[in-house]
Amino acid sequence: MFFKKRNIIELKTAKEIERMKTAGKVVGEILNKLYDVIKPGITTKDIDIFSEKHIRSLKMVPAFLGVKGINYPFPSSACVSINNEVVHGIPSASRVLREGDIVSVDVGVIYEGYYGDAAKTYPVGNILKAADELIKVTEMSLNKGVGQALPGKRLGDISYAIQKTAEDAGFSVVRDFVGHGIGRYLHEEPQIPNFGKSNTGIRLLAGMVLAIEPMVNAGGYEVCSTDDTWTIVTKDGSLSAHFEHTVAITEEGCEILTKV
Ligand code: MG
Repeated sequence: MFFKKRNIIELKTAKEIERMKTAGKVVGEILNKLYDVIKPGITTKDIDIFSEKHIRSLKMVPAFLGVKGINYPFPSSACVSINNEVVHGIPSASRVLREGDIVSVDVGVIYEGYYGDAAKTYPVGNILKAADELIKVTEMSLNKGVGQALPGKRLGDISYAIQKTAEDAGFSVVRDFVGHGIGRYLHEEPQIPNFGKSNTGIRLLAGMVLAIEPMVNAGGYEVCSTDDTWTIVTKDGSLSAHFEHTVAITEEGCEILTKV
C-alpha cells in the first residue's frame, strides 16, 4: 500500500479544514456527476479523463496521480475498480463497462497543499438485486461509521459501526486496507480499520480529519493484488463495493467535507 505515514495525529485548524473542504467539495462534485456519466459502453479511462478534466479546470491537482507503488507510480487521477475489484483499479481505454457491472470510483484532490478523498460505487445500467443490496449496505456502513465520528467517541466506535452494518447484512469487511487520517498528506495517522470493538482505541478530538472508507465484499473478506501490482481483488471472486468520505471532527460534531 502507498501509505506515506505521519506518526502523530495532527489536529487541523479551522483554516486548514476550510482548505480541505474546498478540495473535498470538488471530489464530491465529481462523484455526484459520475452518476450521469457512468453507463454501459464507456471505458474506465473515460471516468478517469472526466475526473482529471474537472480537477484541472479548477486549477487543482489530482491527488492519486503519481502516488508511489510497489513497482511504479499510480498512473491515473481516479481509481476505477469493477465488480470483484476492490480498490486501486487502473483506468484503461480497453476496459468497457457492461450492463450489470458495478464500478467503484475513488478520487482525490489537492487544494493549496491539502487533500480531499472520497469514493462511491455505481450501478452500470440495470444490476442484480444482490449487487444493489451490496452497494446500499456499503453506503449505509459508511454512514453509520461517520455517525460515530464525534468528539469524545473512540476510533473503535467507527470501526465497530461499519463492521456490524456490513456483517448483519451477511457481507464481510476487507481487513487488509483501512481508512486513514488525511490533511497535508493523503495518508496520515490514525489508521481506521473497518472492523473492531466499540469503546476501544484512541479518543476522537475536534480537529481530527479522517477518511472513512468501508470496503465490503459479498463473499469472504480476503483480498489479493493482481499482476499489475495495483489492482486489489477479492480472493473468492465475489463482488466488492467501496464508499468513502473525508470528515472533520468539530466541537459540535462532524462535518462531511466531501458531501455536496
Ligand atoms: Mg482514502
